[in-house]
Order: sequence, then C-alpha cells, then structure tokens
Amino acid sequence: MANKIIAIEEHFTSPTLRELVSPKPGMIQDKLNELAGIRIKEMDEAGIDMQGLSENNPAAHNLDPETAVKAARGSNDFLYETIQANPSRFFGFAALPLPDPKAAADELERAVTKLGFKGAMIMGTTNGQFLDERKFRPIFERAAKLDVPVYIHPSPVKPEIIEAFFKDHVALSGAPLGFGLETLTHTFRLITSGLFDEYPALKIIVGHLGETAPYTLWRTEHNLDKMMKMPKLLGEYYRAHSWLTTSGAFSNSALACAIAEMGVERIMFAVDWPYINNALGTKWLKQAPVSDNDRALIFEGNARKLLKL
Ligand code: MN
Repeated sequence: MANKIIAIEEHFTSPTLRELVSPKPGMIQDKLNELAGIRIKEMDEAGIDMQGLSENNPAAHNLDPETAVKAARGSNDFLYETIQANPSRFFGFAALPLPDPKAAADELERAVTKLGFKGAMIMGTTNGQFLDERKFRPIFERAAKLDVPVYIHPSPVKPEIIEAFFKDHVALSGAPLGFGLETLTHTFRLITSGLFDEYPALKIIVGHLGETAPYTLWRTEHNLDKMMKMPKLLGEYYRAHSWLTTSGAFSNSALACAIAEMGVERIMFAVDWPYINNALGTKWLKQAPVSDNDRALIFEGNARKLLKL
C-alpha cells in the first residue's frame, strides 16, 4: 500500500495556553507539550506521515475576551513556527478566541491567509454556549468566505448535565458518552438554527465517526420533520455539509454505517493523539473491510482534497 497516512485530530498545548489554563500534569500533558521527540517517534512507529495539529481542549474558549484574543494569537503563532520546523509532518487548525466572535473571525482569516492553516478547530461550547448563538455567526461567515472547514470538537458537558444525567455515574460523563452527546447535540443544533441556509458553502468536520450521527440520522430526521419544518431535511443538511473523522472510533461496523450514510469521500482518518494510541488506529484501518481504493481515500485522499494539502 503506497498511500500516505494523514491524521487530522491530533492535539498539542502551546506555551501560551499552558500558562493560562494550567493543565493537570501527567504523561498525557507531557505529550501535548512537545512537538518533536515522542510525537514524531510515535507517528513513525504507527506509520503516520502527517498530523493535523490543534490546540488541546479547552483552547481559548473559557477566558475573558481580551485574554482569549491574545492567547489564540500566541497559540497560532507557536503552531506556525512548529509547522515551519517540520512542514512535511504537520499542518494546522487555528485556535480561535471564541469569547470575542468578531476577533475570532479575524483570527481565522489571519491564520488561513497569513499562516497557511487549513481551518479552525472549535472545542465545543464557549463558556457553556453552543455555536448556534447568533453572536458566533461572524466566525461561520468568515469560514465560508475563506472556504475552510470548521472542526466541531467535544467539550466537557455542563455541570447541570452531569448532575442530571451522570450523578453516581460520573465515569460515563466524558469520553465514554458525555463528549459524544455534547457534540452530537452541537452539530444538530447548528442545523436546526438555520446556519446552513445562511451559509450554503459552509463545511463542518466532526470527529468520532460523527458522534453516532450516521446511526441516528433517519430517526432524528423522521421525527424532527413532524416537529419543525426546515427548507431541507436534517439528513440532507448533515450529508451536504459534514465530513467525519475516525478519531478514537475504530469500529468496523461503525465505519460501515458512516460510509453507507455519508459516502466514503466524507470519511477521513484521525487518531485523537495523545488520548488514543496511534498504532491502534493505523492497524485497525489497514485491516478494516473496505477496498484499498477506499482505504487510501480515508487515510489520505479525502483530507488532501478537503483541506487542499
Ligand atoms: Mn480530540
């Protein structure tokens, strides 16, 4: 198999955000902090040629607006230097100062036009608010104008949700279930808010094979259509505007469902390093029951086309 392997939801922490967010020390954070040694070694061991890098959750989401603007700028400048040092191995998604949506739109434009980034990654809610709030529209307007995708990544669910859904079951509240519920809700809310009627060229990337969306599209669409009328059906919006990645979701049957619902050209490889092991992902997809042509599209071709790599 001659195709290259591109993984597009791979995280780091910049010195700027590390200082502001003071993350929990440990092995995961050590890996997030470094961009040359163990990162490249684990990429090589798993056969990953390129990582699409994004600032780790919560990026600059939950800071005061002024600090967020400076932090996102610092993060993106750091990422730019990191990519310049290793341009054959890395490309970037911008961190945005979501608490100041107008500045976030401007920072996206700077990151794409001046720093060569391929889009933005948004870490779920911002101070508890979903992106369908009108005040965030300038960011999507700019992304559509620049023709770059916005990656909708999970954030931890709100404390009220933990209380209502996961009290005494806290182990389920993060990556096992809570993150996926949060992001599935987020992506469907973008549709019901009318976002894609306003920006018909807008492109969204969703990790974890769509956070169960492919499996639930028919049911959600069927029942939603009885509750609210939109110009198109929910699934029509989802399929027209979404690209899915395999981050942390290495299941043959889930992949088959995602391909059946979305088309193979909408599926891209990702790991979610350092939370998930690189080789777990590459070994899985190398043996997954898809044609070699489809495998090459998922490993490389679809990302190259969408992100213009
Ligand atoms: Mn992730």
